[in-house]
Amino acid sequence: MRSRWEDAVSFHGHACPGLAQGLRASLLALRVLGVERAEDEELVVVAENDACGVDAIQWVTGCTVGKGNLIFRNYGKPAYTFYSRSKGRGVRIIMEPRPSNEGEKDQDQLTESERRKEAIEHLLSAPLQEGMRIQEVDAPPIEPARIFASVTCQACGERVMEPRARLQEGQVVCLACFDDYEARWGKTPS
Ligand SMILES: [Zn+2]
Ligand SMILES: [Zn+2]
Repeated sequence: MRSRWEDAVSFHGHACPGLAQGLRASLLALRVLGVERAEDEELVVVAENDACGVDAIQWVTGCTVGKGNLIFRNYGKPAYTFYSRSKGRGVRIIMEPRPSNEGEKDQDQLTESERRKEAIEHLLSAPLQEGMRIQEVDAPPIEPARIFASVTCQACGERVMEPRARLQEGQVVCLACFDDYEARWGKTPS
């Protein structure tokens, strides 16, 4: 776990408890599903938040925004679902808060940065299952990333993926140009 931690920290930019949580969740998921890091799109992660932990998940599982196998359903929950296409199986991992009485005695004397360090140390040394709840989920058929045709925005002349384009007064426009229009004329009814 330590060497993976060092790598995740250099990817993310700083060491924080959220990153350690993401690392633990990823390692637990790979172990429970019996799979390796995704070279391609054999694994899919659904993240229910967009906080620090997601960077560890990208690093460890190989599920990334660019490959289209990291999907955000930002409910603001400390939970991630990992699907294995080859196994046809998925697990949702929910992070539980650390019991408040644990390590409590010295907490008051610690500075904020010492407290963070202690939290990280605890997360990296605790057994993987500790503080994480696992739910089996039916793997929904998530399609592999699709390639869309491009159209040209008639306002700015830039190319844009077809499903992201909008119609505005009979013209095809990109979202940036459409937003300008909304700002000027008020929200269009959706
Ligand atoms: Zn962070
Ligand atoms: Zn445009």
